[in-house]
Amino acid sequence: MEKKPKPPFYVTTPIYYVNDVPHIGHAYTTIIADALARFMKMSGREVFFLTGTDEHGQKVEKAAAERGLDPRAWADKVVVRFHDLWKALDCEPDFFIRTTMEFHERGVQKLFQKLLAQGDIYKGEYKGWYCISDESFLTEDVAVEKDGTKICPDCGRKAAVVAEETYFFRLSAYQQKLLDHYAAHPSFVRPQSRMNEVASFVRGGLRDLSITRTTVKWGVPVPDDPAHTIYVWFDALHNYVTGIGYDWDLARFEKFWPASLHLIGKDILRFHAVFWPAFLLASGLPLPECVFGHGWWLKDEAKMSKSKGNVLDPYVLIKALGPDALRYFLLREVPIGLDGNFSHEGFIHRVNSDLANDLGNLVSRTLTMIGNYFQGAIESPAPEEDADTAVRWAFDEMKERAFAHYESYAPNKALEEIWSLITIVNKYLADNAPWKLAKDPALRPRLARVLFQAAAVIRGVTPLIAPIMPGSAQKIWDFLGEPGAVQDVRFDSLSFDDFKLGRTMKEPTPLFPRVDLKAFLADEAGTPKEKTMDETKSEAIPAPVPAPAQASVAAPASKPEPKTNIVTYDEFAKMDLRVAHVVEAVKVEGAKKLLKLKIDLGTEQRQIVAGVAETYTPEQLVGKKFIVIVNLQPAVIRGVESQGMLLAATVDNKASIPFFEPDVPTGAKVK
Ligand SMILES: [Zn+2]
Repeated sequence: MEKKPKPPFYVTTPIYYVNDVPHIGHAYTTIIADALARFMKMSGREVFFLTGTDEHGQKVEKAAAERGLDPRAWADKVVVRFHDLWKALDCEPDFFIRTTMEFHERGVQKLFQKLLAQGDIYKGEYKGWYCISDESFLTEDVAVEKDGTKICPDCGRKAAVVAEETYFFRLSAYQQKLLDHYAAHPSFVRPQSRMNEVASFVRGGLRDLSITRTTVKWGVPVPDDPAHTIYVWFDALHNYVTGIGYDWDLARFEKFWPASLHLIGKDILRFHAVFWPAFLLASGLPLPECVFGHGWWLKDEAKMSKSKGNVLDPYVLIKALGPDALRYFLLREVPIGLDGNFSHEGFIHRVNSDLANDLGNLVSRTLTMIGNYFQGAIESPAPEEDADTAVRWAFDEMKERAFAHYESYAPNKALEEIWSLITIVNKYLADNAPWKLAKDPALRPRLARVLFQAAAVIRGVTPLIAPIMPGSAQKIWDFLGEPGAVQDVRFDSLSFDDFKLGRTMKEPTPLFPRVDLKAFLADEAGTPKEKTMDETKSEAIPAPVPAPAQASVAAPASKPEPKTNIVTYDEFAKMDLRVAHVVEAVKVEGAKKLLKLKIDLGTEQRQIVAGVAETYTPEQLVGKKFIVIVNLQPAVIRGVESQGMLLAATVDNKASIPFFEPDVPTGAKVK
C-alpha cells in the first residue's frame, strides 16, 4: 500500500543579535532545532532548518562606529562567532540568514508596502519611555521612579522620553482574529501554560505598534520615505519567510511555509505569538503551526547574566567533552519548556553515568566480546529463548515510544525511553553472563544468541540517538561495520532484525571517557574565556581560544576531526612560526596562570598572553627566546589582547617552554 508522503518540516531558531557573544542560551535553542531537524529527516520528512543573525539597529551601528567600521563590515566580522559555534556543536542549519541580505530587505519592504497600501500600516506620532540600549519603548505599566524617570525593566538602564513621527502597524485590528486562532489551535503556543499567558495578554487589549524609527539609521529604509527605518520586529520576524524564499524562491517558500516550529526563548514569546501572527494575518500568509518557548538555563540555580559573570561558555564544555556530551546533557536534563539548572557536577555526573557507564560500556563490552569470541562476526546463534525475545520486544516498544516523544518535541522523554532499554540490556548481559558461557564450547550457540541480542539493540538504538549525538552515533555505526552514514537510516524501516549475521564488527575505541570532576573543574578554571564573556571589549573574533600554553599548535577547540588529525604539508606551511625574544614580561592581574609578554620578532614588536606564570616568573623570561606562532588569529584573554601564541609543552598542567640559545637570530623562521 502506498504511504501518504509526510509533510515537510520547517524549523527555525530566532535570529540572534549579531553583537552578542554566543553563549549557552544560543547554543541550547540551536541544538534543539538541529536535533529535531535530524530526527524529522530520518523520519522521511523533507526538512528545512533556518537560523541566522539580526544585524540591524542602533547597537550594531554604535559598535561599528566605535571601531571605525561601517556596520556591515562589523557584522561580517562578528557573525563568524555564530558560524564557528554551530560548527563546533555539530549543528547543521540548511541556511543561515542575515538580515542585511539584500533579498531579506527587499522582502520586508514589499510586505511593508502591501500593508501600507491596504491600511494596516499608517503614519502617526509616538511618544513614550524608550530604552536606547534595548531599542524599545517601555510598556505603560513600568512605574515612574522618584526622580521622575523610568528604568528599563529588561536592562536596568535609564529610559528617556522619545516622541517621533512613526509608522504604526494596526495591531488593534487583529485582537479578535488572534483570539479565534488560539481557540482553534490550542497548540499554537507551547508549553500550554504560555498559551494561556499569551491569550490573556491579547484579551487585555492590543494597541497599535510603532514599527519604524527616525532615530535609527542602520536598518531597512521605509520605501519612498527613507527618513524612516523599519526597525526590530517588523524587520527581524520576517526572516522566517524571506529565509526560505519569500519573493525570491517561490517553489521553496510554498513547500515549507507555514513553519512547523518556531523555537524561541520564553522572553520573546509575545513578539512571536502576538505580533508575528498579526503581521502574517495582515499579509494573508498562513500562520506557523507552533511557537515553542523554551526555558532558561540557570547556573547553580541562579539566572546567568553578564553582570554576575556566571555566563556559561559553550566552548569550555565542548573542549572538555566534545559536542555530543553537551548536546545530550541539554536535551536530556529538562523538558524543552521548563527552566534547567546547569551545574558542572550535574553535567559531569550525567555524562559519566549515562554516556560512559550505560551506553559506552554496553557498546564496548558487547563488541569486545564479539571480537574476542567470534573474531568480530557472530555465527550460528541458538534460537531465541524467552529472555531473548523479551529484549526484542523491549526494543520494539521503546522504538514506538521514543518516536512519539520525538514527534511531540520531547527529546528528553525519547532519551529516557532509549536509556531504559539500555538498562534492560545491560541487565540482560549481567544475567546471562556471556563471559561464563564462553568457557564452555558446547554453549557457543547460546553465547552467540546473547551477544546477538545485545548487538541488535545497539544497532537499533544507534540511529535513534543520532539526532542528539550525531558524531558518537556515527562512531558506533562504524564499529558495527555498517556502511555509510547513520543519518541515512530511515526510521520507517528500523527494526531489531536489521542487525545481520556475518557483518564483521570493528574493535571499539572509547566513546565517552569517564571525566574526573576535580580535574575538569581545575581545567575549566584555568581556561581563558573572557573573550566569549565580554561582548563590549571583544575586538577580535573569538574563534575558539586555544589555551595559551599547549604543545599542539593545530587544535582549535572545535570538534575533533572524526577520522584523522593529519595535516598536509600545505596546511602546516600556512603557520608562520618564528623565533621571538622577550622584551618585557608582567603578570596579568587576577589570572594566576597568565603573563603578558612584549616580544620582538626582528621586524616588529607584539604583545602576547601566555599561560606560563605557574612555571616562570616575569624576570625569568625577559631576554629568553622561544617559538611563537605569528599568524594566529588575535584573541583577547582576560581583557588583554594576544597577538600570537608561544609554544610550550604542558606537563602536570604546567607549561615548559623550549628555549633557543641566545645566538639564534630573533625573527628566524621555524619550520
Ligand atoms: Zn533596556
